[in-house]
Amino acid sequence: KSTIRLILGDQLNCQHSWFSSVRDDVVYVLIELRQETDYVLHHAQKIIAIFAAMRDFAERLRQQGHRVHYMRIDDADNRQAFPENLDYLLAHYDAAAFGWQAPDEWRLDQQLRDYAARLPLPSEMSDTEHFYAGRDEAATIFGQRKQWVMEHFYRHMRVRHGVMVGPTGAPAGGRWNFDHDNRESWNGMPWEPADTRPHHDHSALWDTIQRAGVRSFGEPHADAFRWPLNRDEALEQLDQFVQNALPHFGRFQDAMSYKAWRLFHSLLSFAMNTKMLDPRTVVERVEAAWRDGHVPIAAAEGYIRQILGWREYVRGVYWHRMPGYDTLNAFDHQTPLPHWFWNGQTQMRCVASAIGQSLEHAHSHHINRLMVIGNFSLLAGLSPQELHQWYLGIYIDAFEWVELPNTLGMSQYADGGLLATKPYVSSAAYIDRMSDYCKGCHYDKKQRVGERACPFNALYWDFFNRNRDKLEGNHRLGMVYQQLRRMTPEQHAAIAEQSVLLRNRLDKL
Ligand code: FAD
Ligand code: SF4
Repeated sequence: KSTIRLILGDQLNCQHSWFSSVRDDVVYVLIELRQETDYVLHHAQKIIAIFAAMRDFAERLRQQGHRVHYMRIDDADNRQAFPENLDYLLAHYDAAAFGWQAPDEWRLDQQLRDYAARLPLPSEMSDTEHFYAGRDEAATIFGQRKQWVMEHFYRHMRVRHGVMVGPTGAPAGGRWNFDHDNRESWNGMPWEPADTRPHHDHSALWDTIQRAGVRSFGEPHADAFRWPLNRDEALEQLDQFVQNALPHFGRFQDAMSYKAWRLFHSLLSFAMNTKMLDPRTVVERVEAAWRDGHVPIAAAEGYIRQILGWREYVRGVYWHRMPGYDTLNAFDHQTPLPHWFWNGQTQMRCVASAIGQSLEHAHSHHINRLMVIGNFSLLAGLSPQELHQWYLGIYIDAFEWVELPNTLGMSQYADGGLLATKPYVSSAAYIDRMSDYCKGCHYDKKQRVGERACPFNALYWDFFNRNRDKLEGNHRLGMVYQQLRRMTPEQHAAIAEQSVLLRNRLDKL
């Protein structure tokens, strides 16, 4: 009799204790299925990357002597949903037990728990052995506090895991946070490092996916595919990042450019979120680069904060607030996404560039996601639920536990301020300061009203005006409301009028 152990597409952790010994009585199961390709419309590269990495993972397990049952999307006996496929496999192998690793998505967590509870066999859920913190750790740290602050969680994690701290628990360099050193725009120098990620030809897989009828959007680039397939490739990518980009990461962390979509970012989120690369390896490598004098402390600390801080923190928010977090809509924003979310064809150069990169590469870096696409969406009053579906589909690294708190919480403030202490919005001035987008844009960054006025400007002031009751009491927004109070009634009327015009023709902007 055998045990069936299910491995999900984002559980490609070859260092998991499951694989430390080869057992004849264990069959590892990986399944490509429509249930997972279709719950949202995905970018083509995301589907290809996950299937290709799953296939590679299965092959490596086989080479190590493990028994593997791999179901392809077009296999005739594939029932295309987990319960039906697992029923079939448990019967096929006359299984005596079922095992699975804790899913990171609430939806799958529920489905597999329900499934296991109905089984007449013993079953066991194992940890994924990936994250620093348990699902509930952030909630335990914050206790009954109403407002969660990432910085508090992050410092706790630094000390608990001994990352960039001295023997007494004091932060390396005497400060916890070097954010103030990390606010430069980029003028083309230093050069964006070369893209050294491997090339793969996944044309055959892409044909299979299409023939199976899976719908998608975005550029597949199947014959010149650049996302890593496995841990070895991810480690190589990490090495290249630490060597060439990390020294500049901190300074240009918030910079944006239409000329350079990667800038000095690591592009490691796909490898980490599929668990082919574990966060400890990344954090240790980055800390070592700083200790060896290869990178400045601001770069190392800034990068580590993203992983040990933000990544673990948003996961804590997700598990604390699910189910139900995905339905929050604090501003009651209901406007559907304009059509250019699907083709990038808007005259707003910043948005066209950020969405264009996303369609081309299934990736865009954090500030484009937050301060261009998310910023515009919040100012324009787009539905956070529709936006969540879009973010979940388009990005190669999008899995609900990390995407949802970022989109609904950080970017849209739809949770009323649990995750972000104030809405991340700006007028054209911020975008102009941090990017090269505004020069050459159809719109005028300086104008607030008129046909060529940058849409961000009027929408920015209108957003604060119309949400006065919800936001005026926030002490971090004191300056904004002070400026609004200084405006004349005519200025207020012009902003309101311009905003109505803009919001009535979002599709044409
Ligand atoms: P780098 O800039 O090199 O950062 C290093 C790593 O830090 C990332 O790989 C990531 O693991 C982690 N990190 C950085 N910021 C965050 C953050 N805010 N939350 C969690 N981890 C973070 N990240 C995802 O992994 N999946 C998503 O679906 C996702 N959706 C987002 C949606 C919105 C609206 C916003 C504003 C951000 C989102 N992020 C998401 C966070 C961040 O934009 C990406 O992690 C980052 O752009 C990935 O590229 P990189 O690996 O080059 O990151
Ligand atoms: Fe974006 Fe406005 Fe600048 Fe154009 S002028 S790039 S729309 S911020």
